[in-house]
Amino acid sequence: MVQPVKFPRTTLPIVRTAAGLAECVSSWRAAGDTVGLVPTMGALHEGHLSLVRHSRAKTMRTCVTLFINPTQFGPNEDLDTYPRDEARDVAQLTEEGIDLLFQPEPGEVYPSGFATSVQVEGLGDILEGVHRPGFFTGVATVVTKLLVQSLPDIAVFGEKDFQQLQVIKRLTRDLDIPVRIEAAPIVREADGLALSSRNAYLNSSERAIAPTLHGTISQVAEQVGRGGAPGEQADWGREQLVRAGFASVDYLTVLDAETLDEVADASRPARVLVAATLGTTRLIDNVAV
Ligand code: AMP
Repeated sequence: MVQPVKFPRTTLPIVRTAAGLAECVSSWRAAGDTVGLVPTMGALHEGHLSLVRHSRAKTMRTCVTLFINPTQFGPNEDLDTYPRDEARDVAQLTEEGIDLLFQPEPGEVYPSGFATSVQVEGLGDILEGVHRPGFFTGVATVVTKLLVQSLPDIAVFGEKDFQQLQVIKRLTRDLDIPVRIEAAPIVREADGLALSSRNAYLNSSERAIAPTLHGTISQVAEQVGRGGAPGEQADWGREQLVRAGFASVDYLTVLDAETLDEVADASRPARVLVAATLGTTRLIDNVAV
């Protein structure tokens, strides 16, 4: 199929209603254009932009969504202070040449009387599901809505949120949503720290310690890849992080990369996943074994 020439845009079309989103995407698809969806919560950085570029390389039209989803934040989490920079987000997305920004208000996504939620049992109950109760129900519900509202060909998610990616793949299969979920690799700073909107919370001494997270899980992955016992390596990794100055480690574990089941060795693709708190900032990361 001939790809249309993608001129840089000077203005970015923004829709704020689900009906507007559905209408726009279905008109593209009726015209034979392939469509990619990139869900985000804004405060965009190079990690988000890599997903946008992935979509633009694979499809003729790209729609980014910007919605800070209140239902995925716990009562003691950072919904009110979550970084917001709408003007910069719009400027960056305009520069990237996307075709549409969907930016709904909470009342559009959750109108009064809203009563339905999507829960992914098993995959959504471990790791982040233990430490952030309700988080995956919030994510799964909003992502289901976005996928069903827009029905794109592909939707792109980052491996940065590795468990989230598996949860979204599962719900898409389970609910027969006809969208292909594509994964994009983690974009990191030069020192290894995975880009995250929440890195803005780190002070300078915490920022200096933060790359230890990636360094440690990379060493664990290497040792397990060489035949080291996953449990022992994970214990070693947790100790390293506390020694480096992390206040607490919610989990550091080596799991099957698809099912997130416990593994005894690296005979199947495995993943090292970690969540740890530095000062008051909770960071997550993961690497392949
Ligand atoms: P968020 O705005 O944090 O909800 O993230 C939106 C999407 O960007 C999710 O699919 C994330 O996994 C992805 N993402 C966030 N940070 C990165 C990163 N450093 N590298 C790749 N993808 C990322």
